[in-house]
Amino acid sequence: MITVEEASEIINQNLYKPTTEVVELSKVLGRVLAEDIYADRDFPPFNRVMMDGIAIQYKSWESGARSFKKEGIQLAGEPQKNLKDSGSCLEVMTGSILPENTDVIIPYEELEDAGEMIHVRLDQVKKNQNIHSQGADVKVSEKILSKGCLISTAEIGVLATVGKSVIKVLSLPKVAIISTGDELVPVEETPKDYQIRQSNSHVLKAALRESGVEADIHHILDERDLLLTRLKAIVEEVDVLILSGGVSKGKKDYVPEVLDQLRFEKQFHGVIQRPGKPFWFGVRQDNKTVFALPGNPVSTYMCFQKYIKPWTFNSLGVQLPQEMAALSEDFTFKKDLTYFLQVRVLNVSGKLMAQPVAGQGSGDLANLIAADGFLQLPADRSLFKAGEVFPFIRYRRS
Ligand code: AMP
Ligand code: MG
Repeated sequence: MITVEEASEIINQNLYKPTTEVVELSKVLGRVLAEDIYADRDFPPFNRVMMDGIAIQYKSWESGARSFKKEGIQLAGEPQKNLKDSGSCLEVMTGSILPENTDVIIPYEELEDAGEMIHVRLDQVKKNQNIHSQGADVKVSEKILSKGCLISTAEIGVLATVGKSVIKVLSLPKVAIISTGDELVPVEETPKDYQIRQSNSHVLKAALRESGVEADIHHILDERDLLLTRLKAIVEEVDVLILSGGVSKGKKDYVPEVLDQLRFEKQFHGVIQRPGKPFWFGVRQDNKTVFALPGNPVSTYMCFQKYIKPWTFNSLGVQLPQEMAALSEDFTFKKDLTYFLQVRVLNVSGKLMAQPVAGQGSGDLANLIAADGFLQLPADRSLFKAGEVFPFIRYRRS
């Protein structure tokens, strides 16, 4: 058996190698850029009027003019107009191009409309006021986004502005989720007394979707030959297999030997942790990866959050930030295992406080909904004091 740290390190030495693909703007949220993005024009692309009001010439203001004859209107979306008489003004709207021969914008709030004439109530104006000058933010051809950037909603606006309707991004791994177990029935069926509905695949599929990854779901009974033939076919179609169940010491836990038959090289089997101790991880020569997780729902979920999610992001070159939280009360755990304690967190004056949520162990699905994440308590001691800070693996935001 290996430690949690060793397990993470081995997993991160066996990353998926993404290729690139071209994706429409509407589908690019959460993906990783595989091209640098340059400004196709200046930002803003023209001297942009920032207020509804009038445009005048600073020279005429300097020479004492305070009332201006209306010469016309420059609307947003219209080609540039020209102020012909330097002593008059053009009405201008936010977002319009600054008319030629003008260099001051005065908002309506400071004006008195007297029919043909407009009077300015201000004592002072500044040249170029309320004008967002061409190229003030970014110059044409400047790089504005770099390869490797994780696209958030903020980047979407930039991509749209520079005319990127399709974008080159890193490809995501193709994943198959496989649950195993003779006691499991599909969600839509009514289980017999000795059966349960299978939930892990649905949890894994939803959790993967949060990372932008789509996956197919399969279920296989605990029969050695069946497992071999089914997995052999499924693995041809994907980059990654995520299995749940069948990796412990039970009489029908065939997953490790079948994976061995399929030429997956075991990297580890067993991690000194609770939950999730029987976790099996392996890779094949053709760069296919298998995460075989113990079937207990909380174990499966914890292993996904702790190992598979960071593996997916690391494969794309994105380092997820490690949140930390402080225990809100003393906690004792007497085994020499890294303990992933389910906690509810509360933000107290900017500090994240973690309150243990007592549960019934790794089968306790109901407990997952009472908590926000796992607090990772180290294996080398048994008493954890209130106020001590530990890594926090969050699965809930609110
Ligand atoms: P296993 O790892 O196959 O020994 O399973 C451990 C426990 O988790 C057993 O009580 C199983 O019934 C349960 N279990 C396994 N797979 C699932 C699943 N997909 N959904 C819900 N419970 C499961
Ligand atoms: Mg089983």
